[in-house]
Amino acid sequence: MPDAGKMIELCEILDITLNDLFSGEKVDMKDNEKKYEENLLEMTKQKEESDKRLLKLEIVIAIFGIIFLFSNIAIASLIEMEDWIRVLLITSGMIVFLIITGFALRIEQKAGYYECSECHTKYVPSYNSVLWAMHVNRTRFMKCPNCGKINWQKKVISK
Ligand SMILES: [Zn+2]
Repeated sequence: MPDAGKMIELCEILDITLNDLFSGEKVDMKDNEKKYEENLLEMTKQKEESDKRLLKLEIVIAIFGIIFLFSNIAIASLIEMEDWIRVLLITSGMIVFLIITGFALRIEQKAGYYECSECHTKYVPSYNSVLWAMHVNRTRFMKCPNCGKINWQKKVISK
């Protein structure tokens, strides 16, 4: 699957429609609409599947980050060593933890949607609003871009 930005260019070069590209064959004008809907449905399904996988990956890397940080702290506090090595262990543990948290948050922001509990709009928030929002698991206290209310926004997979 080529990048979305390249698709139109590719179609122009090949002299086919986007619909032909997604169908993998030349589509008749009369079948066009039906095929288009099928393709749209298929793409939505694929996005949902990959979002689900991403959200699972987020849990795995978050657990890895926590284990890495706490094992570094445990080693630094329990084992005899020079002080500078202790500092190095704890600092590197924190740095890795922060990088992993940033990465996990990026997944959480991009995979699926947040649903406003007030107006039920589903949207992808900015990275910053996800980063600074209070949260319980994946439910975040954020401002809805549609109705402007600040409330608990739930993570959902389908639009
Ligand atoms: Zn809303």
